Amino acid sequence: MFIDSHCHLFYDRIYERLDEVLETAKSMGVDYFLSAGVNSQTMRRNIEIAEKYNNVVCAVGIHPCEYKNGYNVEEMKKLVKDHPRIVAIGEVGLEYFYDDTPRDLQWKLFEEMLQLAKDVNLPLILHLRESLNDDLFNILKHFDLPAVFHCFTDTLESAKRAVNDGYYISFSGIVTFKKSENLREVAKYVPDDRLLIETDAPYLTPEPKRKVRINEPGFVKYVAECVAGQRTCSIEHLSEITTNNFLNLFPKAKEAFDIN
Ligand SMILES: [Zn+2]
Repeated sequence: MFIDSHCHLFYDRIYERLDEVLETAKSMGVDYFLSAGVNSQTMRRNIEIAEKYNNVVCAVGIHPCEYKNGYNVEEMKKLVKDHPRIVAIGEVGLEYFYDDTPRDLQWKLFEEMLQLAKDVNLPLILHLRESLNDDLFNILKHFDLPAVFHCFTDTLESAKRAVNDGYYISFSGIVTFKKSENLREVAKYVPDDRLLIETDAPYLTPEPKRKVRINEPGFVKYVAECVAGQRTCSIEHLSEITTNNFLNLFPKAKEAFDIN
């Protein structure tokens, strides 16, 4: 049994055939899903999906590249508060690779999202691209919240720092790509109790399905196989540790899924 710890079920490409997508996932051994938020335009649809399907929970957050599309933190706080199926704030963070949003504005947004997470006492799903530096680790330490570094693509050194500071590290389909030798070394290193897996569907389709183009939550199975292969552990062991880690990081999901 696997959990896709990070996908986006609200995008039309998936949403239009969501029943089928979730059935396919189930037939591949993927039973539970966390659909992460990106902007205020899709926020309500994302929450509705988590309300409709008892094996889906969601997160609410504004992605750094979505700053320009606007957001209302007070409205978000109202939606999140006491909602049983919103289990995290995310994805939020800093995107330094595509820098179409000025970094000072990204920081303003990021700090507001960190404060929101603090106010509602929820863990963070972090989108951090080429932005793992002292400033980042310092502000995370300051807010002191549980968090996952989603779709990790950084160095082994940064991974060690994140693990030392108590964070989780999640691998997406990128770990299966031919050119990702360095990332596979990171996947070998991350301790058992810090590891998560995800698809980031509909993006980042893993090998051997890359030609399919539209990624689906069921394909987290291929991420799992790749990571288990690197760690020379069984797929069952990988399932057990990543499931436990997910439920530890997102205690509200444990309740929502009614898993003991
Ligand atoms: Zn994402």
